[in-house]
Amino acid sequence: MKKWNMEELGVAVDMAGCPNNCCHCWLGKQKNGNMSVCEFRNIAAQFKNWRDENGKAIGQLSFSTWHREPDFRDDYRELWELQKELSSPGMLKRFELLSIWRLARDESYAKWAADAFRTHAENGKPICQISFFGMEEMTDWGVDRKGAFKDSILATNRLLEAGIAPRWQLFATKRGLGDFDAFTRLIYEFDLIKRCEAIGQKFDVFVNCFSPEGNGFYIDHESLEEGDLSKIPQGLVDICRDSVENFGKPEYVLLEEMANDNSPSNLSANMYYISINADYDAFPNIAENTPWWCLGNLKRDGVDSIIKAYRDETTPGMKVNREMPVSELARRYGVKDSKKLYDRSDLACRFMHQWGIDFMDGKH
Ligand code: SF4
Repeated sequence: MKKWNMEELGVAVDMAGCPNNCCHCWLGKQKNGNMSVCEFRNIAAQFKNWRDENGKAIGQLSFSTWHREPDFRDDYRELWELQKELSSPGMLKRFELLSIWRLARDESYAKWAADAFRTHAENGKPICQISFFGMEEMTDWGVDRKGAFKDSILATNRLLEAGIAPRWQLFATKRGLGDFDAFTRLIYEFDLIKRCEAIGQKFDVFVNCFSPEGNGFYIDHESLEEGDLSKIPQGLVDICRDSVENFGKPEYVLLEEMANDNSPSNLSANMYYISINADYDAFPNIAENTPWWCLGNLKRDGVDSIIKAYRDETTPGMKVNREMPVSELARRYGVKDSKKLYDRSDLACRFMHQWGIDFMDGKH
């Protein structure tokens, strides 16, 4: 991803937080805040009024009232109208995410969401992703909330009734592997393939590894290893979108490739975003919300300093991301006999996290 050129920027404010504390959450454990609408308007005004050294403004802006669980606040309908009011025309999108927590509690929510998707769906189709870690015990463990699995099943039914396709995402962990057969059966018990066809959609399911950053860093020992892929039932592989390709390669193989790669990690996201948490700390959306990526605090440092840190990539994490060769990160943090499976960029994320911990310990 190229450096930001000021044409577009999303600003995502974590006004209310999230009911979950998922074990793989790349953002890490975050405080749930309770920001007022007035505060949100004030943040939006600061970004709209910002000008660079030549008096130039950011081309187009979108403002989001959430950064973790969308629509978690009871006034989610008013907040959606507020986002539309403040964002530049055409910039605001509904991603393939809804609040699973709310779907299970608010019977009118799915229908409301279907209307919002009709006009603002990111890819033109009403789709909502639902994450599992296995069956009930595993999913409640993964989401770190009792009742999460039951909510996900109820949410699936409510989505279908409203004409929204559920997309099931199964996060693979060592401890969840034993549930994969039962999980595959569940898809057929709920007749999800045919029920999605009935609303003119395709049922998507995929098995995913998790990125070892944020909370995921602390369950890295749960990563599947080379020999584990054969334990994924063929019946699940057959219906999986992308099959199991996204599991990548064993660490020892990736280390051999990385040993000769003198380019930097260049971690990136597909959109330019700044997120602001409940304490007004601002982060680029390319990595976990940790101090080495932090752009500053909106109250303490001001919007000018934050936007310039983002534009000029001056945080310690952003600098290393552009400067330190992958070969050097691999030499420092790679485990040569590790058979854990990683997508290459996910392994780079782990190295960056390990680098960050050393940085905080004053080792650089
Ligand atoms: S992964 Fe999503 S739902 Fe889970 S804790 Fe993070 S933001 Fe919340």
